[in-house]
Amino acid sequence: MSSYTLIDGKQTAEALLVEIEKKIINLKKQNITPGLAVVLVGNDKASETYVRSKVAMSERLGIKSIHKELSVEISEDELLSEIESLNADDSVHGILVQLPLPAHIDTEKVLNAIDYQKDVDGFHTLNAGALSKGLESTIPCTPLGSIILLKRYLGDLSGKNAVVIGRSNIVGKPVGQLLLKNNCTVTYAHSRTKDLPAVCRQADIIIAAIGKPEFVGSDFVKEGAVIIDVGINAVQKEDSDGNSKRRLVGDVDFNAVCDKCSAITPVPGGVGPMTIACLMYNCLYCASMIHNVDFEMSDDLRA
Ligand code: NAD
Repeated sequence: MSSYTLIDGKQTAEALLVEIEKKIINLKKQNITPGLAVVLVGNDKASETYVRSKVAMSERLGIKSIHKELSVEISEDELLSEIESLNADDSVHGILVQLPLPAHIDTEKVLNAIDYQKDVDGFHTLNAGALSKGLESTIPCTPLGSIILLKRYLGDLSGKNAVVIGRSNIVGKPVGQLLLKNNCTVTYAHSRTKDLPAVCRQADIIIAAIGKPEFVGSDFVKEGAVIIDVGINAVQKEDSDGNSKRRLVGDVDFNAVCDKCSAITPVPGGVGPMTIACLMYNCLYCASMIHNVDFEMSDDLRA
């Protein structure tokens, strides 16, 4: 009999969204309507899907949504001036530029052109720097959601050994900084790490953010470890009738590790729903900061 806990991202995301919605109603009583601008360049299908769900969630929560669809041929200067006009627009509190951008555009330059106070993705260098110094800042959505989930299920993280697999600016690095802020002993593992399974077997907590389907197997996992699987990979898999179907899997081989760990996030239904909820969280955070309104979430919904 397996006895692991399934860490439910949908349920926690819903709890977060309910609290955010209440806070938005309160802001509106003070004549503040949070506004989120989502900028999509080109017509990448996956990006279009992500943008649609972000816009729909904003609308559900009563956030004013501004959706800009720009041609794949837009020049860098034209894109920068679109961002300038959103920076200057007082009805916009959050600006998100959907990544990836076309190759002719300097992504770093564009992200740093966003007013750091409206940086709902937390990718601006000032916010990344603030996070690494342990200062108040917007926190990238996926790391924020991962740590809220982890703390909700595990409570105090002090003294835990955490291994983060992946060192991207979007997930790996910020998630490690949040673990450090929560007094974990943090190891960053990556593509050049030697004997990765042995490194991971030291971990009380494994955060997998690699981008390789079902990469983390049973030999990576210490008995009783907690696993947060950030990966989202579309693969063709056979169902029980032998039909090949497109499915989403994580970076962790769920069936191989679940009996060894004490808790694990599923894919889908784990970190994914938290990411979009945390985008709403960040939009509320930015609107509150810009208007000097207190921002405090419940204890079990904080990173
Ligand atoms: P990335 O490609 O930028 O970074 C991947 C990291 O994995 C790198 O730091 C690399 O060093 C490491 N890596 C690659 N191969 C490795 C190996 N063999 N051994 C050890 N480390 C290795 O990816 P990312 O943007 O950080 O995303 C990581 C995963 O998270 C992807 O599956 C992505 O789809 C997913 N993701 C999910 C969400 C969500 O909402 N759930 C959001 C963002 C990203």
